[in-house]
Amino acid sequence: MKVSMIGSGAIDADEMNAATLIDGHILIEVPNGIIKYLRQLNHDISQIDTVFITHFHGDHFFDVPFYLFTLYFQKRKRKVKIIGPIGLKEKVKALFELGFPDQFEKIMKAVPVEWVELAPDQKYQDKTIQVEAKEMAHSISPALGYLITVGDKTLGYSGDTSLVPNVLYLVEHSDVTILDMSLKRTGNKDHMGFFDVRKIKEEYPEKLVIATHMRTEARNRATIEHVRNLYIPSKMFEILI
Ligand SMILES: [Zn+2]
Repeated sequence: MKVSMIGSGAIDADEMNAATLIDGHILIEVPNGIIKYLRQLNHDISQIDTVFITHFHGDHFFDVPFYLFTLYFQKRKRKVKIIGPIGLKEKVKALFELGFPDQFEKIMKAVPVEWVELAPDQKYQDKTIQVEAKEMAHSISPALGYLITVGDKTLGYSGDTSLVPNVLYLVEHSDVTILDMSLKRTGNKDHMGFFDVRKIKEEYPEKLVIATHMRTEARNRATIEHVRNLYIPSKMFEILI
């Protein structure tokens, strides 16, 4: 499994908002600006056939219309799958209504999209991936984290969350886990901080963890205080697991 950290920043950081690619074709999170950014990285958008959304905040799903427009312009005929919490299709439709009125139905007719809406604890699988959705704790509900298995490797992805038992569940059941580390000290009711992630690392010292959704001060702090097996991704960080 190749994990590419396309973005690992929070809204007010220089880095792109949190987004991860698995094996070049599974995109986790579609934050504002990610489609243009992937083009700048010379990544062919048509390769992306599976998309995950953790929750309906703009820095996690605002570029879904731009992803679908790109497929529309490319006249894509192969199916794409968009996976997210219950209400996913309605939320994307609302984005279209706001930004591109009367375009949603036209694009839906031309681009074969399968919407997969998951409830907490629901499992899903197709020929290439197995997914387990877990409920997280964030300022918006539903907010999901995922265990995503491809072949014999599993990636955990927390999305935005405070430190709740399901975060530990993701770490326990994955080969590598990507965790919200927005804040430089302890987290709050919406996000984890460096102290939370360090505590998780003390409990699971051998587990690989990659921090994401970092404000600049959280990134700086974690870079200075080196924690074994905790990766602080630079601009283009890739790891093979
Ligand atoms: Zn959020």
